[in-house]
Amino acid sequence: MPARNILVINCGSSSIKFALVNEAHSQFTLSGLAERLGSHDAVLHWQRGGEKDSLMIPNGDHRAALAQLLPLVQSAAGGKLHGIGHRVVHGGEHFTAASRLDEATLRAIRATAPLAPLHNPANLLGIEAAIKLFPNLTQVAVFDTAFHQTLPEHAFRYALPDHLYREHGVRRYGFHGTSHRFVSHRAAELAGLSVGDSSWLVAHLGNGCSTCAIVNGQSRDTSMGLTPLEGLVMGTRSGDVDPNLHSHLARTLGWSLERIEQLLNKESGLLGLSGLSNDMRSLEQAREQGHAGATLAIEVFCYRLAKSLAAMSCALPQLDGLIFTGGIGENSPLIRSKTVAHLTLFNLALDKEANARTVRGVGGSIQAYGHPRVLVVPTNEERQIALDTLALLNA
Ligand code: AMP
Repeated sequence: MPARNILVINCGSSSIKFALVNEAHSQFTLSGLAERLGSHDAVLHWQRGGEKDSLMIPNGDHRAALAQLLPLVQSAAGGKLHGIGHRVVHGGEHFTAASRLDEATLRAIRATAPLAPLHNPANLLGIEAAIKLFPNLTQVAVFDTAFHQTLPEHAFRYALPDHLYREHGVRRYGFHGTSHRFVSHRAAELAGLSVGDSSWLVAHLGNGCSTCAIVNGQSRDTSMGLTPLEGLVMGTRSGDVDPNLHSHLARTLGWSLERIEQLLNKESGLLGLSGLSNDMRSLEQAREQGHAGATLAIEVFCYRLAKSLAAMSCALPQLDGLIFTGGIGENSPLIRSKTVAHLTLFNLALDKEANARTVRGVGGSIQAYGHPRVLVVPTNEERQIALDTLALLNA
């Protein structure tokens, strides 16, 4: 059978990220971004081979962008597109794996919208547009939460009255599941272990950040919760704060819930602490020049990350390796070494040179000789979504 092509789509409220994945090639055949959808400046950018191009689509919506994309995809796929994989943020408790997009799946995604009011409706916009444009193609939803449905109840329940869970789904779900799953499989390959018989700690560090404990290929705990705000310090998200902060801000400053949500999701994290930027590259440069806010933001980021990894270790029977991934995890020797320096109790230590050279898409082990394994594994969520789509095509 010739190698098949899967279009992977990740829709935001005003954007579509896409990649055309060929199962035989590690590079994407075509990739790009449509942004500012619905506005006068709507634009589609794409990259094919080494060539970049873009097209203005004034006032274009999700459907208009996908319609413009169609001939590009067909040409890049040589007229042979086999399926579409959609990233969906929240699958609630309904989805424990990827699912073919039929009426029942669509209904269940719509029903989950109250748990992800910003993300699921945006994901649905893209799905509905793609189904109208490609009615005869198999389309699959791949959920960020699905991998974490194996969490035991003692890890996913909050210490809240039972009815909030039973009647309203208030529990920890976890996110970044597609990435945690992909890198743990790659790590097992790199280490010559079976994923079904190995235990990993994962730090996915991008604009959003989360840790995960993975045992025998299953997620056993993770740092994000009901929403992607819980856990680590992130680009603009606070991660864990005292839940009474909400009432404190409301009482002392008269802030509304919307204002507090904006603070915790958009103005906090690295940006809030540094007063400078949510971007780790800029913060590392500023720290070099003695910027106090950037220095503090990096210290808090690494300490909180190490603390979360130590907490995750409660879910592991043994440690076969710590995995760093995501834009920061794959590219920042500084963050990796500062984090590992807080974990000496676990006997973790890095090889300075291996740590320094394992950047920009290079993967491999970076631990010092004789110490537990530490791996850098470039993530590839698009490829994992394509693999999940192919698996359902085969089924
Ligand atoms: P992602 O969301 O996975 O694309 O990751 C974005 C984050 O990765 C941003 O904070 C970037 O600053 C960070 N990042 C990318 N390259 C580097 C680098 N060379 N050093 C430090 N951070 C980086």
